[in-house]
Amino acid sequence: MSYDKDSHKIFDFIQNWARKHSIWVLAYGTGCGAIEIPPTMTSRYDAERLGVRGAATPRQADVLLITGYLTTKTLKRVIRVYEQMQDPKYVIGFGSCTINGGMYYDSYNTIKVLDKYLPVDVYINGCMPRPEAVLAGFAKLQQLIAEGKANGAQKYKENLEWYRENQKRISPHWVMPEYNW
Ligand code: SF4
Repeated sequence: MSYDKDSHKIFDFIQNWARKHSIWVLAYGTGCGAIEIPPTMTSRYDAERLGVRGAATPRQADVLLITGYLTTKTLKRVIRVYEQMQDPKYVIGFGSCTINGGMYYDSYNTIKVLDKYLPVDVYINGCMPRPEAVLAGFAKLQQLIAEGKANGAQKYKENLEWYRENQKRISPHWVMPEYNW
């Protein structure tokens, strides 16, 4: 019995260790903060040395990086992208706009609190966050993965009805499949 428990723990540890060091990112450049991604990924800050690299498609990505505000139009596309990603998957909200609307807090067509529509595992504060802050955000995500606490995707499945209700309030003409992964 204890052998089983211990072997599970070791298996989880190895799995999380591997996931932590292999983070493939799909960057959805929704806002101006996206301009900080090239310096983060290229030679000066070199995020790849931490195991962070770009992914070409949602199917290959582990992380959806939402780089700034979403509008009422782009939200739907981002949900579609997120639901096409395979588990395990994570979301990073990049910039103040994803936290509380930032400088667009009173705009009629931007999304103010991203976490009401998609499960955010890590937020990176700032307007716009510098590459150092982006690397700190990835380090935080890696820590959560290693501890088995990056469970946004699980939260999304368990509370899908609540998320769908919020999403449909923004996109009343919903034509996407109800369950899309
Ligand atoms: S947080 Fe600042 S830099 Fe990022 S999308 Fe919003 S306004 Fe642009």
